[in-house]
Amino acid sequence: MKSHTAYLWFETKKRREYINITREVQSELEKSGIREGMALVSAMHITAGVYINDAESGLIADIDEWADKVAPFGPDYRHHRAGEDNGDAHLKSLLIGHEVVIPVTDGRLDFGPWQQVYYAEFDGKRKKRVIIKIMGI
Ligand code: ZN
Repeated sequence: MKSHTAYLWFETKKRREYINITREVQSELEKSGIREGMALVSAMHITAGVYINDAESGLIADIDEWADKVAPFGPDYRHHRAGEDNGDAHLKSLLIGHEVVIPVTDGRLDFGPWQQVYYAEFDGKRKKRVIIKIMGI
């Protein structure tokens, strides 16, 4: 069995951003030489997420609006008593999830139609990273 590990770095301009990282994951898969296995893509932070969905701008706006409705950005979280202002970002991370596993078949990411992998930043403007771990044969 082979394994390949890579890190993607982000420093978003906005507090919340949704970044399509499908090409980067595909590129790491090509570097790995793995033909059959799994690719794990995981945000290494408690205020960010990784998800799979359609690359459509209306949908991305809907996801952002939905997450902010469930966990609105605001000053009234207990977490803020410790001097932080990102209570919403922790909850959004739990809502979206922090990692995905993508099947690798015949040397490619075996997505269904329209599936793309996204990094979701909920408390940006600082350096953050995602780990890609690909294992297989
Ligand atoms: Zn925090």
